[in-house]
Amino acid sequence: MRALNIAVLPGDGIGPEVTKEAIKVLQALADIDSTFTYETKEFHWNSDYYLKTGQMMPEDGLEQLKTFDSILFGAIGDNRVPDQISVWDLIMPIRKNFQQYVNFRPIKLLKGLEGPLKNNASIDFVIIRENGEGEYSNVGGMMFQGENREMSVQNTIMTRQGVTQIAEFAYKYVRDHSLDKVTNATKSNAIIHSMKFWDQVVEETAKKHSDISYERYYIDALAAYFVQRPEDFQVVLASNLFGDILSDLGSAIVGGLGLAPSGNINPSHEYPSMFEAVHGSAPDIAGRGIANPIAQIWSAALLLEHIGRKDLHDNILAAIEALLVERKILTPDLGGTATTVEVGDAIVEKLYK
Ligand code: ATP
Ligand code: MG
Repeated sequence: MRALNIAVLPGDGIGPEVTKEAIKVLQALADIDSTFTYETKEFHWNSDYYLKTGQMMPEDGLEQLKTFDSILFGAIGDNRVPDQISVWDLIMPIRKNFQQYVNFRPIKLLKGLEGPLKNNASIDFVIIRENGEGEYSNVGGMMFQGENREMSVQNTIMTRQGVTQIAEFAYKYVRDHSLDKVTNATKSNAIIHSMKFWDQVVEETAKKHSDISYERYYIDALAAYFVQRPEDFQVVLASNLFGDILSDLGSAIVGGLGLAPSGNINPSHEYPSMFEAVHGSAPDIAGRGIANPIAQIWSAALLLEHIGRKDLHDNILAAIEALLVERKILTPDLGGTATTVEVGDAIVEKLYK
């Protein structure tokens, strides 16, 4: 059996700290389960690399990454480097070239946690965000119509192929996980060209899957429902911008950034998919060894699910939940005093049980 080949980009700040714990968990799985073997190679393409070389990655960076099954990404962000550079010169090229058109975010209130919402309903849904086009396009510009009369234009791009493939992914997810509903986040009452087309294509896809329930909400109302009745959702399908905003709201209702994982997925497996905690490099706590590694460990679990090892994914989640239920070994963001390393070690210990 061939070993799973993972490219690791630890990144900046707490990225390397939490990524180390995620790899520790992979190693434990490999030790426990002889059917799982993996190899990693680290790439230190981070802000220091940029300050030294003027680039976020080498010219052949994508060629190098392309040979891996998956990518585990820490976090990028450093106040000496404009955010735009790390996003457009590293993250975006990876997402676009490897056709990672799905941004996948579980919103799940883990056992042992109390979310900020009063009625501690069971919250367990996923946000499937279009990750390759939509509102985050670089089409647009400034138009100068005279002094103090500039006008900016930012175009949204919705293609039939782009919308169809994300909608189909959402329906496939519903089927693969024995769920029965898709919720479409839209705003076609106000964004009357691109969003209307989004709805049209999503609804054509919904018709093909008429055994699965479909509902559509305007993004403003949906944001309120996330707070008022989050237990009603299973799979929320959203455009790039709406999915971005809903994902942060989603992570907030289940306990915050230290617990929010994500995947940038190429469903065809033709190119590597990339998994990363939602949080950034957290410069305010970097180097202190107190970052919560759970988001990154969970992201590694999503990586395993993507390559067909849902069993290992479920083992990791069970170990995380076992730790949270005990409420003994927690990092400060969850009200504890444990270190990043102690939490990683404790999750490994739970895996052995
Ligand atoms: P970036 O621009 O890199 O996304 P940011 O400032 O937008 O950075 P984060 O780096 O995610 O956002 O940090 C936001 C806040 O959440 C910070 O106070 C940070 O310390 C905290 N935080 C983020 N991740 C974690 C974590 N894993 N454990 C504990 N606290 C965290
Ligand atoms: Mg941020």
